[in-house]
Amino acid sequence: MADQDEAWLRQEIIDTALAMSRERLSPGTSGNVSARWEDGMLITPTGMAYDNLIPEDIVFIDGNGDSASGARKPSSEWRFHFSAYVVRKDAHAVVHTHSRFATALACCRRTIPAFHYMVAVAGGDDIPLADYATFGTQELADHVAVALEDRTACLMANHGAIACGANLDAALGLAREVESLAAQYVAALQTGEPHILDGDEMARVLERFETYGQQDN
Ligand code: 13P
Ligand code: ZN
Repeated sequence: MADQDEAWLRQEIIDTALAMSRERLSPGTSGNVSARWEDGMLITPTGMAYDNLIPEDIVFIDGNGDSASGARKPSSEWRFHFSAYVVRKDAHAVVHTHSRFATALACCRRTIPAFHYMVAVAGGDDIPLADYATFGTQELADHVAVALEDRTACLMANHGAIACGANLDAALGLAREVESLAAQYVAALQTGEPHILDGDEMARVLERFETYGQQDN
């Protein structure tokens, strides 16, 4: 049973990475996808085209950060996926993209403020920016941990974006939402000076989000 669940999750990770690519949320082999599994996580391999992945290419990293010898090399960014699962106990999946507008804002070292009420989708009144560090480093993972402490998504300086979710669909959905907010914010900046919603209004929005939509019974 557990073997079947693992095989299913490996395929779900591939399907999520393929959707991320197809929807142009991350060019080429950029971006990566993981899901919590046992005491660690399953993650996409480094530098492989998503089209050609098979379930055996997905790498298991245990709770100590070790992967099995003989397996594919894991994503160079496994450390920040690991950090995300440490700080976000609610996260069971993480999607990292280099999506166009989120990355453009991150390269200008901007956060996405409450220019639109939907920024509450990441759990607060902005989508924060993780400080810059070289890709694949523990330093970057530490910066990501700070940014995700009280948000489910963040931008990463001169790099891209990260979205967490209760499952892979939710993480991919949030990555889409972050990109669409980033595109709207860039358009608003080009149009004039976006009006930023104040803290009281965003508190009301966050409260409404708790009961918005079809609640699970
Ligand atoms: P990987 O191919 O190692 O997952 O790296 C892609 C990436 O986005 C690095 O930040
Ligand atoms: Zn990246």
